[in-house]
Amino acid sequence: ILEVSNLEKTYSSGSKTLQVLYDINFKVEKGERFSIVGPSGSGKTTLLGLCAGLDRPDSGSISLCGQKLDNLNEDARALLRNRNIGFVFQDFQLLPTLTALENVAVPLELQSVKNASKTGMELLEKVGLADRFHHYPSQLSGGEQQRVALARAFSNKPAVLFADEPTGNLDAETGEKVEQLLFDLNNDLGTTLIIVTHDIELAEKTGHVLKLKGGRIISNETAEKW
Ligand code: ATP
Repeated sequence: ILEVSNLEKTYSSGSKTLQVLYDINFKVEKGERFSIVGPSGSGKTTLLGLCAGLDRPDSGSISLCGQKLDNLNEDARALLRNRNIGFVFQDFQLLPTLTALENVAVPLELQSVKNASKTGMELLEKVGLADRFHHYPSQLSGGEQQRVALARAFSNKPAVLFADEPTGNLDAETGEKVEQLLFDLNNDLGTTLIIVTHDIELAEKTGHVLKLKGGRIISNETAEKW
């Protein structure tokens, strides 16, 4: 479902350039749980953003859900994301002026989904927050906000969910709940999970782990070898 070949990425600011990814090659099969681990600054978030089509590499190619991202303009990328992709970011990225329900339902309304509110409530129920639907993000704890963000990410039943440190800001117990929700999504809908994490235990549970160091892949192993 994702194939990355010979990927290179450099950031430039002013006259300075910094290469952050070198010759990255890997594949993720449909329905897999896949994680990307590595030290801070090793390029994990950059790689996730490239794979999701949020940014472009200097060279190399990426196929996602059967489409070569290199050939797609920004509109076509947005369409692919709306149809097939969900995102969960470490800092939740909820809209502060919308309630929990609106945060989940508004993207559905934008896609002209009928009964967006009803579907939004069902999603909030799934993450155990139906009784908090009218609360604004500032009235929710970090773990609750992360669960709203997950409900929103599930809303288009994504083929692939990209998650950047989904449990990073949460205490152990809440982190486990979020982890279980991600794995349920994978089991129930067959959603492919691609997770950046510092949490080695979470990575081991995913069964396929890519390790980055200094912008290079140092290992790419599936469960049998872990
Ligand atoms: P962390 O675990 O700390 O989140 P990471 O492995 O996700 O780190 P990236 O966020 O991908 O690493 O960053 C890789 C390198 O690229 C870092 O040295 C970072 O400072 C640099 N970098 C990231 N984004 C930019 C940017 N927009 N412009 C310039 N440099 C950047």
